[in-house]
Amino acid sequence: MPSLYIDGEWVDAESGATREITCPADGSAVITVAEAGPADARKAVEAARCAFDEGPWPSTPAPERAAILHRVADYLERDKDEVARMEALDTGKRFVESQLDMDDIIGVFRHFASLAQGEAGRVVDTGMPDVSSRVVTEPVGVCSLITPWNYPLLQTAWKVAPALAAGNTFVLKPAELTPQSAMWLMKALEEAGLPKGVANLILGAGADVGPTLTESPEVDLVSFTGGVVTGRSIMASAAPTVKRVALELGGKNPNIIFADADLPAAIDNALTAVFLDSGQVCSAGTRLIVEESIHDEVVDELVRRAEKIRVGGPFDENAETGSLISEDHLAKVATYVDAAVAEGAVLRTGGKRYESGELAKGAFYPPTILDNCSTEMTCVQEESFGPVLTVETFSGATVDEAEDAAVKLGNDTIYGLAGAVWSQDAGRVERVAKRLRHGTIWINDYHPYVPQAEWGGMKQSGNGRELGLVGLHEYQETKHIWQNLRPAPAGWFSND
Ligand code: NAD
Repeated sequence: MPSLYIDGEWVDAESGATREITCPADGSAVITVAEAGPADARKAVEAARCAFDEGPWPSTPAPERAAILHRVADYLERDKDEVARMEALDTGKRFVESQLDMDDIIGVFRHFASLAQGEAGRVVDTGMPDVSSRVVTEPVGVCSLITPWNYPLLQTAWKVAPALAAGNTFVLKPAELTPQSAMWLMKALEEAGLPKGVANLILGAGADVGPTLTESPEVDLVSFTGGVVTGRSIMASAAPTVKRVALELGGKNPNIIFADADLPAAIDNALTAVFLDSGQVCSAGTRLIVEESIHDEVVDELVRRAEKIRVGGPFDENAETGSLISEDHLAKVATYVDAAVAEGAVLRTGGKRYESGELAKGAFYPPTILDNCSTEMTCVQEESFGPVLTVETFSGATVDEAEDAAVKLGNDTIYGLAGAVWSQDAGRVERVAKRLRHGTIWINDYHPYVPQAEWGGMKQSGNGRELGLVGLHEYQETKHIWQNLRPAPAGWFSND
């Protein structure tokens, strides 16, 4: 079916190529979509360029832009179950989790709709009576928006909503495995009245269409969410044209539990931290860093609880978590676990794919706990992006020594996306939160976020921020306009 959306038209790939999408939970066919190549990507970029340079959108009044974003949120409220079903089938995620994702997406569109109307720039007081000095914001231009498969429409909304709120045009390239909700979004934007050419959709493999979207001199900004290796190559490919690049990459996120924590709460949340969505969450608490004196109590209980987690397909009402995105991804996760055991980690539970029954038919991998880990191990340093928890311990003879040891481990990673600290000592949690070099820190909690607060990583977890107020600024240029109200010769150079 024509599934590329270019300049307001649904079209096939120029080459005629297609891709079959299957549900990773059971391998069943879901949909066949067009597989774009560089020629299609070029057309999409041209359409977005033309819509920016000649179309009405960049100068459309902010209230009208906001109204379109609100309409998309309304349509998602209307189509919520349909879109959640698309994402459950594409990803193998539980349908109920996909429904919750839809609620978050509605919130994101409404957040940026309200921000769109609050940006009036500012007047600068120069102290000179005959001068008007204003700082105004303008859209950046044509944006390439490249997104991953784990939260398909949510990650897309974090980019599309602020890009449109600021008046940009864009080409969206979702992950090749999860195209359906992006197609729904294009239809919703069309229905909402977005002018043609403003939103364009390219489906296809990153290696094929990605370079056109990141190298083109017609593109002004690339916003990418995905893995660190892809992020590095995108940054390099965007460098020759010095375009803006915003990167949301991975994380190896520490979840630190001190001995004085509320242990039932800490243990329960440690499970959600790492095993939610089968660990395919950039901010998953994959590194448990636990004070030595409570190690056995905490880890024994985590193992007991992990073994009870019910794994199942998207529409299995008993399931508590779903499948991995693909067989290829499962193989990658299994390789990390095997390597960890070879490096000396102790496998406490999981670590082997299901070999019989319904779960053997899909890309299911059991919740896995690796004990006796250290920061030198590959499984501690690299993202497996699966349901795999590594356990490290710390200790200290004094309060300060224990905190130093915990912080040192928590920061001993190239990443800096998110982390948590658990303790009932109010001073300690503040001190530790301040010293952790991660973009989000939860104190006595794990995972919640709101669209009003910025999200993003330090170090190699990326640059820039999404959501919050800064998430809009990423898509805006700042311009200073100076006006002399009483023009006169400058008189700097001699007139003789
Ligand atoms: P990925 O890097 O393989 O792919 C992400 C996107 O980039 C896909 O659309 C892919 O087709 C595209 N791509 C691949 N090569 C490209 C190239 N050369 N040029 C342009 N585009 C290219 O990542 P993934 O496996 O889809 O997603 C998982 C990763 O995403 C994990 O590392 C996870 O931590 C990260 N992630 C980060 C956040 C965050 O907020 N920081 C959120 C979600 C996921």
